[in-house]
Amino acid sequence: VRKLGEIYKNMKNSVYSFREKRFHLVDSLLPKIKSDEVLVRIKASALCGTDLHIMKGELMDKVYGKKNITLGHEWTGFVEKIGKKVNKKWLGKRVFGSPHIPCGKCKYCKIGKESLCDHQAIFGMTRPGAHAEYLLAPESTLFTLPDKIDFATGALLSDTVSTAYHAIKKIELKSRNKYLILGSGPVGLTIGVLLKILGQKNINILEKSPYRTGIAKKLLGANVFNEKNSLVLRRTIDVVFDTTGSEKALEIGFHSLVRGGQLIIIGIHNKPFMLDSLRLMYREIAIMGSFGYSHQEAAEFTKLFCQGKNSRELARVISHKFSISKVDQAYKMFSSHNCGKVVLIN
Ligand SMILES: [Zn+2]
Ligand SMILES: [Zn+2]
Repeated sequence: VRKLGEIYKNMKNSVYSFREKRFHLVDSLLPKIKSDEVLVRIKASALCGTDLHIMKGELMDKVYGKKNITLGHEWTGFVEKIGKKVNKKWLGKRVFGSPHIPCGKCKYCKIGKESLCDHQAIFGMTRPGAHAEYLLAPESTLFTLPDKIDFATGALLSDTVSTAYHAIKKIELKSRNKYLILGSGPVGLTIGVLLKILGQKNINILEKSPYRTGIAKKLLGANVFNEKNSLVLRRTIDVVFDTTGSEKALEIGFHSLVRGGQLIIIGIHNKPFMLDSLRLMYREIAIMGSFGYSHQEAAEFTKLFCQGKNSRELARVISHKFSISKVDQAYKMFSSHNCGKVVLIN
């Protein structure tokens, strides 16, 4: 067991091979730190649907390594070393990190819309990720992880909570709103958890996996529908959140909306989808994409989950924890959909 605060020359690193379609746990040299970066001793890194897309080779134009890659963009840990220009307050701090690294200079960064940055880098995609013992991270990606939130739950703040929170900020919360969340994977579930915490009551889910149907009922007390029985939802829903990337689900969501309803797209769709544009116009449906989050929003949701009750609710979104040496098993479990959030623990 390595001691905290002691820096070693090498690190455990889980490397995914695109050709072999499997992970190798290797001993890598510790990366050299730049003046605006910190070295984070990773304590937890979560698996994300985006990783499955990367592993299938769907995002190769953005991936830094064409043969191998260290995945992982949702992470927590301790800051063990800081570059020359980095604020000393970070040294030894518990942190969670943003998946996205904004440039800080473009027009979007300047107005606090960092997730729309023109030149953003992404951990575990455009540069090495957090499924390793250490991660090099620019200071701009760090957020303080409150003591009350454990490392595994904190890894949800990185991307799952932030994605859910950013999407919810796109709408006006009204107590009479009726919601439909397409998919109750980690992001869908977390949208439900957040809506509940924010006082919203009428939450419905569209889900086909029996396991995920079960957790949606248990965690959210939501009505869960599938393709076959979703017809009763027709023209009853005020806001639909799509987390599936499935055109079929999107169509059900679209037809479930009332006049003036909103459809927020968070899921990754691999190809363009068809929607009835005439209906969209007549019924004044608003469709909006949602991606990433701003630093301002990070401060807001961190505060929300500092309350013990809320962070315990969030922790229930995690169904499985694996040690990093079991990374293959973790991804097998995650891609089976018989799980909630899956987290790797160091
Ligand atoms: Zn993610
Ligand atoms: Zn930028």
